[in-house]
Amino acid sequence: MKSQLKFFYLYICCQVIVTSALSQNVKIGLFNELNTQAIVFSVAQGSYLLTADGKAILTLRPLENLFIEVTNDSLACYTINNQAIGRFKTIELRAMTDSSWFGLRVLPYNKFAYYDDNLLLSYNLGKLQTINSIDFDKYIAAVVEAEGGYRAHIEYYKTQAVLCRTYAIAHLDRHKDENFFLCDATHCQAYKGKVKTPAIIQAAKSTHNEVVVDEDSVLIVAAFHSNCGGITENAENVWLLKKTYLQSIRDPYCAQGKNAKWEFKLPLDKWKSYLVENGFQLNKDTPPSTFNFLQINRHQYYKIGNDSISFQKIRNDFKLKSAFFSLEVKDGILYFYGRGYGHGVGLCQEGAMQMALLGYTYKEILQFYYTRVHIININKLNPTKNPQITLLK
Ligand SMILES: [Zn+2]
Ligand SMILES: [Zn+2]
Repeated sequence: MKSQLKFFYLYICCQVIVTSALSQNVKIGLFNELNTQAIVFSVAQGSYLLTADGKAILTLRPLENLFIEVTNDSLACYTINNQAIGRFKTIELRAMTDSSWFGLRVLPYNKFAYYDDNLLLSYNLGKLQTINSIDFDKYIAAVVEAEGGYRAHIEYYKTQAVLCRTYAIAHLDRHKDENFFLCDATHCQAYKGKVKTPAIIQAAKSTHNEVVVDEDSVLIVAAFHSNCGGITENAENVWLLKKTYLQSIRDPYCAQGKNAKWEFKLPLDKWKSYLVENGFQLNKDTPPSTFNFLQINRHQYYKIGNDSISFQKIRNDFKLKSAFFSLEVKDGILYFYGRGYGHGVGLCQEGAMQMALLGYTYKEILQFYYTRVHIININKLNPTKNPQITLLK
């Protein structure tokens, strides 16, 4: 009986540990690239406690607003009817309920968005720093929504949620000198505020704390793209980064995707000049058919004789949708017949959406696109191999 009690006590302790990790907030820098001079904060739902320089000052309810601006070396805070509250270095607006959310207007840019949970404000070198301290799963859901894929199947949203969480944890130290973990721009992951799609919130909650690790239990580089054109690409061919799990695979699922194919054309003379600029030895008699190139499998280089140029470079120079294309000359015009959209490394979003519709689970989808990976709970991450995780504790 005693040992049973002991076991029960241990069980409760474990629950407490897991629950404390569950309620982990992440700090996201909002509009960090802007020189914000003032904000308007408005309660949309729930209530907020205003704390300034560590002292609780007042509670705000729905439709109540604050105006806060940079003044000399501090932040001046006013109620919306212009009643001065005071000048402070830091201001915190803490959500008093789990479902509190607010509107934030950023001036002088007049940008506006809604956010869940808390807002932290501080005076920082002449500008107003705005940080959203938010429940991790709410943040993940918002990132999944910002990445696109509206009206997709829930298993696809779960797939994307696990990837966005993996990316977020792997990059928690990106802004460590700026008092927050990640910014809201594509530099980290696009985050546009409160999520609107209930299925995405559900997907983030039901994959709570799950991340993808490689064979050595290290968080993966969670690369994904829109459509691979039927074959994904080796990471080393795009980024000079070789990873066992970012290897080329055949993808039969994305052929019907809207980005499966593309076309582009160019006068042949322009193409010849481009090749000459890139060191090709051409002469006037080179027959047009010499420029044809059939790319059924992915090739790294376009070659004529001993001259070559990488398809990645051609893609970048002509801003093409992908580096996976064939070339054919007809009547003095060079036609590009392309496949896919994006770098082609890792998960193919349109293929993953189709797999979800066909009944595959998010784990099966992740293990299809990433070779020999595991999906584990962040509490099981080894901090020696994944030092970023210690920032969450
Ligand atoms: Zn960033
Ligand atoms: Zn694909």
